[in-house]
Amino acid sequence: MKIAFFSESPADEAALKILVAGILGEEIEETDLPNTIERRSSSHVDKLLPNVIKGVYFWTDAEALIVVSDSDDTSVHTKEHETESNEQCRLCQLRKAVAKTVSKLKGEKAFKVAIGVPVPAIEAWFLCGINPHVNEATWIRKQNGERIQYDRKSLKVELYGNDRPAIESLKEKAIESAERLVEDLAQLEEFFPQGFGCLINEIRGWKQ
Ligand SMILES: [Zn+2]
Repeated sequence: MKIAFFSESPADEAALKILVAGILGEEIEETDLPNTIERRSSSHVDKLLPNVIKGVYFWTDAEALIVVSDSDDTSVHTKEHETESNEQCRLCQLRKAVAKTVSKLKGEKAFKVAIGVPVPAIEAWFLCGINPHVNEATWIRKQNGERIQYDRKSLKVELYGNDRPAIESLKEKAIESAERLVEDLAQLEEFFPQGFGCLINEIRGWKQ
């Protein structure tokens, strides 16, 4: 399947390609989506998203787009948001933005978009199975005022050895982590039932 990826860095996208191939059980074919910004923040993702969707739809042969952006300090998605979208939730914000742009696309091509939101950052997914304290339920407890054992910075330090890793180190760790995680996607889904669960469910739906 030809799938384009749009996330916060090429390192994330390399990891996502491995995970999505594992979910679909097939190779991901390359698309010619230009990828010129080495690191992007979530606000970059928001700003660029409409143009990325249009670019992928009109100018590449991709059948689908995967969008992944960290939750940072936004609210964690819940089942309740499925009936009423929540402005404070990153996943709901991205869904809304995607729906708005996709509804304006005029063309014959069917186009699929799946969204994932690592809570609070993609390093949490990469540490799944290594640090058992890191999961969505624990982060929700933190948001409710409890003291927990990690924050976004400590996740980076734990994974890369420091909180400002070099680009090569980011990519290496991302790929290494994804190759490990793809062997047990059920565990990643169990620890991150919303941010990863929504992504995996959407992608599984493409096969039906
Ligand atoms: Zn939500």
